[in-house]
Amino acid sequence: MNPLIEQWLSGGPLVTDGGWGTELQKLGLPVGQPPELWNQSQPQKVEQVAASYVAAGSDIILTNTFGANPILLARHDAADRFEELSRLGVEISRRAACAAERRVLVFASIGPTGLLPMMAGPEMIDRLSEAFEKQAAALAAGGADALVIETMADPIEAATAVRAAKKTGLPVVACMTFGSGKKKDRTMMGTTPETAADLLLDAGADVLGSNCGLGIEGFLPICQRLREATDRPLWMKGNAGLPKMVDGQSVYDQTPEGFADEAMKLLDAGAVFIGGCCGTNPAYIAELCRRVKKN
Ligand SMILES: [Zn+2]
Repeated sequence: MNPLIEQWLSGGPLVTDGGWGTELQKLGLPVGQPPELWNQSQPQKVEQVAASYVAAGSDIILTNTFGANPILLARHDAADRFEELSRLGVEISRRAACAAERRVLVFASIGPTGLLPMMAGPEMIDRLSEAFEKQAAALAAGGADALVIETMADPIEAATAVRAAKKTGLPVVACMTFGSGKKKDRTMMGTTPETAADLLLDAGADVLGSNCGLGIEGFLPICQRLREATDRPLWMKGNAGLPKMVDGQSVYDQTPEGFADEAMKLLDAGAVFIGGCCGTNPAYIAELCRRVKKN
């Protein structure tokens, strides 16, 4: 195991944060606007989300840098701002983390680019590699404790991101999003947990996991299959149930108590990093902390 990760886990499982996108939208982030732009224009609102998770008891908070890569930002004429937006994102979460009187780690988020290399050639992989290397280097320079590759559907993109992130020397968490296929056990590109584990471990991932896609109640079989596939630590961040569209808005109906019940099953199945994704908020994380830290 990566020695830093081993040290962080020495006190038992760690609770991460919950959803960011859904929380930023509550604070007025317009749908369709890249949230990362707020690291510069609305830093106090971004810090409010980070601080709300620190207050809820998170041991690890992420950063508002999911899409801070040159490829995605180019669609908003902001490709040249990826470095600054990445650095600011880490600094904002770090400020919130440092305000706590206990250790709170900052893991920087790296999401997909929207390009699907499974469908393209090696040229695409070079382009992705370069973008992820730039983003990872900016997040490391900003002072992140670790990097989290998340919400990945394409295994080639995920592995490319892991290889790029590993070049920083920081521990790397690699997560894919399952929930497609008849058994809801594949990514959108058809990848199973076993194939994901093979490719991501080969790329050097220190922690394997899954986030988003499914309500947390659907995560148990994914967690069990990843546990079978590796002895590396597992990271699980499920959604607050499956979203229902009400008046054009996504509504998640899993309660914090029901969510925590499911999360505890994931800990029993071997997860050691546990938190939430879309639809979860500080109330879910606070309930999770009450359960996880009881003993
Ligand atoms: Zn999500």
